Amino acid sequence: MTQDSGWPPLREELRGIAPYGAPQLDVPVQLNTNESPYGPSAETVADVAAAVAEVAGGLNRYPDRDFTELSRALAAYLTPDAGGNVIGPEMVWAANGSNEVMLHLLQAFGGPGRTALSFAPTYSMYPEYARDTHTGWAVGHRNEDFGLDLERARRLVTEQRPALVLLPSPNNPTGTALPHEAIGVLCEAAGDGLVVIDEAYAEFRRAGVPSALELLGEHRNLVVTRTMSKAFAMAGTRLGYLAARPEIVEGLRVVRLPYHLSSVTQAVALAGLRHAPELLGYVDRLRSERDELVAWLRAQGHEVADSDANFVLFGRFADRHAVWQALLDRGVLIRETGPDGWLRVSVGTPEEMAAFREALTAAVGAPRTRAQEQGR
Ligand SMILES: *Cc1c(COP(=O)(O)O)cnc(C)c1O
Repeated sequence: MTQDSGWPPLREELRGIAPYGAPQLDVPVQLNTNESPYGPSAETVADVAAAVAEVAGGLNRYPDRDFTELSRALAAYLTPDAGGNVIGPEMVWAANGSNEVMLHLLQAFGGPGRTALSFAPTYSMYPEYARDTHTGWAVGHRNEDFGLDLERARRLVTEQRPALVLLPSPNNPTGTALPHEAIGVLCEAAGDGLVVIDEAYAEFRRAGVPSALELLGEHRNLVVTRTMSKAFAMAGTRLGYLAARPEIVEGLRVVRLPYHLSSVTQAVALAGLRHAPELLGYVDRLRSERDELVAWLRAQGHEVADSDANFVLFGRFADRHAVWQALLDRGVLIRETGPDGWLRVSVGTPEEMAAFREALTAAVGAPRTRAQEQGR
C-alpha cells in the first residue's frame, strides 16, 4: 500500500461506492420496497413465537446444516406450480433471502474469467453480485415495452457465452413477465451456462402467465429462485430459495458458510409455510389493487408498464426526482428507480393507495407527459 492510496485498504473497485439500499425512512405511507402491507394475524404470530420458543431451548447447538425439514416444505410448496413435475427436496436450496441464494450461485458458477449477463432495465443488485465475486458483467437491453427481443437476446448470449444469465420474471422494476418461449431460447443459447429466472414476484403474476418451474424438466441448466419476502409477507425473516437440478444444488453446498441458516430462521420459515393460506391470502387483493392502480394512472395520462408484480412503473417525468420528493413531502415514499423519467410504486392497502393517488395528483396536478412538455 502506498501512502496516498487511502486507508483502510479497501479493494480498489469498492472505493467511493455507496452501499445498496432504498432509503428506510419513517413515513406514514411506505411504498418503496415491494413489501406486503399486511402483517401476520395474531394466530400466526402466536405460532411463530411458539416455533421460536421450541428451538430456543436448543440454541447452544448449531442448526441443521441441511435444513432438511425446510427443504421438504419448500419443495411441497413449489410442486403445484411446476406443471406436473415433482420438485423434490434434493432440488431445493435456501439461504438468507434470495439475494444470498443469488450470491451463492455467482460464487459457485461465476468467478474470475467468467461472465454473468442480464438485460436492462433490471434488478440493480445483479452487477453487485458479479463485482463481489470477481465475475465479469455483461448487459443487453430490453425493448421499449420492456420485453425481450429473442433474436437479439440469443445473439448476445451466443457471443458472450455467459456462465450465468440472470433474469427476473416478473422483472423488477418494470413488472414484465417472460413467456416460456423466451426462457427456452435462453436455455438453449446458454449451452452449459445457467439461466437463473428470479421469480421473486411470481405469486403476483396475472392469470394465464406461467411459472418457469414448469420448464425445469426440459432444461438441465434452468434455475428458478423464489423468496418469502414479497407475496409471502415475510421480508423480515430473510428466506429465499431456489429449485434446480440436484447437481446444481450440490455446487451451492460447497460455497455456503457453515450453518448459514439459523435455527430461528428455519423455524420461522416453517411456521410461515404452515400458514401459507393466510399469508398468501392477500395476493388476490394486491393483484386487483395493482390492476386498479394501472388503470387509474393510465386514466391520468401517465405511461404505465404492464405489471405482473406487486408494483407499478409509471412516468415519464422530465424531473422524476422532483415528483418523488413532492410525494415524500406528503408522507408517501416511493422508489426513484428504473429508466430515466420513470418511478416505481409498490402496491399497498386501499388506504395507502388512496393516499398515493391524492399525493400524486397534488404533486403533478393535471399530469403532463414528456411529449406535452416538449410541445409535441
Ligand atoms: C425483492 C427482490 C428479491 C428478493 O430478495 P430477498 O433477498 O429474497 O428479500 C429478489 N429479486 C428481485 C428482483 C427482487 O426485486
